[in-house]
Amino acid sequence: MKPWKPDIDRKMVFKSVREYPPMAVSLYTMMFNKTGTWRTVRPVINYEKCVYCLMCWKFCPEPAIYLEPIEVKGKERMKPIIDYDYCKGCMICAEECPVKAIEGVEEER
Ligand code: SF4
Ligand code: SF4
Repeated sequence: MKPWKPDIDRKMVFKSVREYPPMAVSLYTMMFNKTGTWRTVRPVINYEKCVYCLMCWKFCPEPAIYLEPIEVKGKERMKPIIDYDYCKGCMICAEECPVKAIEGVEEER
């Protein structure tokens, strides 16, 4: 019998947390764990400063950032959009943003 090996060439690409399948870490899907209620600070992206490098999307641990295709100066880019139902306000995205385009504002409830 051949040993099982993970198929590292097969990429699973999800546009947002809403497309995630059920996972072992959760009783249901991550969709049901709306961690946005944890937030005391709200990250806000300043799109005037954003250079679409997607570091925020890459490092968001939730993940609470999804991407929308847009055109910037004639080129196709992916625009990061924060899903506040899931963003827990850890501010890792702001820490990783190379141009400091993400600002934290106090959450109002
Ligand atoms: S604050 Fe944390 S959870 Fe929210 S978008 Fe940034 S990295 Fe993700
Ligand atoms: S890390 Fe900053 S510059 Fe890069 S896509 Fe996110 S908000 Fe934009």
